[in-house]
Amino acid sequence: MEVRNCRKCGRIFNYISGMPICPICKEENEKKFHEVKEYIRENHKATIPQICEDCGVDRNQVYHWIREERLVFADDSPVGINCEKCGASIKTGRFCEKCKADMANHLQESIAKPKPLQEARKKQVSSKEKMRFLDH
Ligand SMILES: [Zn+2]
Ligand SMILES: [Zn+2]
Repeated sequence: MEVRNCRKCGRIFNYISGMPICPICKEENEKKFHEVKEYIRENHKATIPQICEDCGVDRNQVYHWIREERLVFADDSPVGINCEKCGASIKTGRFCEKCKADMANHLQESIAKPKPLQEARKKQVSSKEKMRFLDH
């Protein structure tokens, strides 16, 4: 366990994981989150500056929730963020569907090809053989 200062109020607390925010601020944050979620459900057409003003939340906090895929906007909402990889407009998360699929493919490829490992093993064997040769 680690002792840290809350990033929001400066209170000292036992930090476990996630954002460096004390339990009190975390709870307030959760309350805000639900408030914003409700607000978005009732106001499909609200923009981010409007959400911030009406709910009294920080713009960065709103983006943070979007990136975490906790806030999801309706299809007719003007709110959009950009895919962190290709810049395509998306409604939630960090990457567009295309980039997500690309990354999943790359991941599978690297699992399917354990080539570098096999080569390393071969080298080990040949050096052992050389040692044996020197022993004789
Ligand atoms: Zn705090
Ligand atoms: Zn993308």
